[in-house]
Amino acid sequence: MEKHLKHPIFKTLADCANQLGVDAYVIGGYVRDIYLERESKDIDVVTIGKGIELAELVHKKLGEEAHLSVFKNFGTAQVKINDLEIEFVGARKESYNRNSRNPIVEDGTLEDDQNRRDFTINALAIGLSKTTFGKLLDPFNGIQDIENKIIKTPLEPEITYSDDPLRMMRAIRFSSQLGFTIEKESLDAISKNKSRISIVSKERITDELNKIILSPIPSVGFKLLFDTGLLHLIFPEMVKLVGVETINGKSHKDNFYHTLEVLDNVSKKSDNLWLRWSAILHDIAKPATKRFEPEHGWTFHGHEDKGARMVPKIFENLRLPLNEKMKYVQKLVLLHLRPIVLAKTEITDSAIRRVLFEAGDDVDDLMALCEADITTKNPNKVKRYLQNFEIVRAKLKELEEKDKIRNWQPPVSGEEIMTIFNLPPCKIVGDLKNALREAILDGMIPNEREAALVFLKNKAQEVI
Ligand code: ATP
Repeated sequence: MEKHLKHPIFKTLADCANQLGVDAYVIGGYVRDIYLERESKDIDVVTIGKGIELAELVHKKLGEEAHLSVFKNFGTAQVKINDLEIEFVGARKESYNRNSRNPIVEDGTLEDDQNRRDFTINALAIGLSKTTFGKLLDPFNGIQDIENKIIKTPLEPEITYSDDPLRMMRAIRFSSQLGFTIEKESLDAISKNKSRISIVSKERITDELNKIILSPIPSVGFKLLFDTGLLHLIFPEMVKLVGVETINGKSHKDNFYHTLEVLDNVSKKSDNLWLRWSAILHDIAKPATKRFEPEHGWTFHGHEDKGARMVPKIFENLRLPLNEKMKYVQKLVLLHLRPIVLAKTEITDSAIRRVLFEAGDDVDDLMALCEADITTKNPNKVKRYLQNFEIVRAKLKELEEKDKIRNWQPPVSGEEIMTIFNLPPCKIVGDLKNALREAILDGMIPNEREAALVFLKNKAQEVI
């Protein structure tokens, strides 16, 4: 085991622990990640007493480059050096009351501290003091569970999840992040205790949800959230996508599983959280816009528009940011059918120009979302659609080089229009600006100043 503590920081930690005569261990995620061969920058150190003193001594030994923060009220401290963050906490024993996930805490032994951990794989500790240096303490066979890829609680699952229901989200998050299976007793306990999630803050829930979304195959996590019933409680709009309806022998696809496929597809190409959110929400308004038309079968007219309008409320409920990230997601949801239309019909320059104008710098992400949206199982169709998108991409590129329409700014500004035509700020200025934009997007005039001025002069004669 000593070989795992080869980073020089552990020698410093051990020397300081010995100097103070304190029992100290590296514990939790850092130890787990050693065995998973994942790099980790967060080191949790648990001590039997004297946690803050140990942090202070470590800080002193590390010198100028290190930064110390002490949280006296919590009896904890943190030392930061370069990109490492080391947390020092005294070993704790916890007891819970039913209405809060914040436990009553008292000093405890290492064993107490390992007992309070959420999963066996997170309860591993490695000794740092003279007599224990490099020794692994694995009371719940966490190593075996890492080998068998199992998520399991150290103590009774019912109690573990009910005490702190955030652990239900964490179990699913680890399963999705690491590709581990949640043990059956745990899964049953999660299903049974799902309504306890109500005592967890929305911010915490969404932190875990975002980690699930950022995992390699996010559908793994979403299926678990759905199967345990947690998704119904934390994100009901998504559950509405579930199901297939059939009328006159015609069925539509199950939009929940379709959405998960799109999400997985886009995740293979990008780790942009907000592009992944766009995939989750691209069809969110399908249930609300669904109709059966005897001649056409199932239609979802306007779902892209309604979906974009649903985004702010969903973001607000999930405590996601209501800023440019949200606007980006709205934009992609709104535009997600546009390249498909371009691929299907004969493509006009003006249609391409409009997509470039509306998507701006996010046009590549829009194309990635559209390609991810191809979930047909017919290989010929997949091939045909992908070829069409290649044509669209080439056209986008060609037109952008020619017209520079991405991040378009009018070649004559509103201010200038007011000066040229001696106008106060008024509706006519807006009308002229809009007419100019339309003329450029429709290709009536080039995206150039001279042509714009001539156009505006002619137009002004009509409207002023
Ligand atoms: P990651 O670094 O991927 O976010 P992590 O679990 O290693 O995951 P933290 O959330 O900082 O990172 O948790 C550190 C350790 O604290 C865990 O390994 C676990 O032992 C313990 N822990 C964290 N949250 C809980 C919880 N809700 N209940 C019990 N133990 C927990």
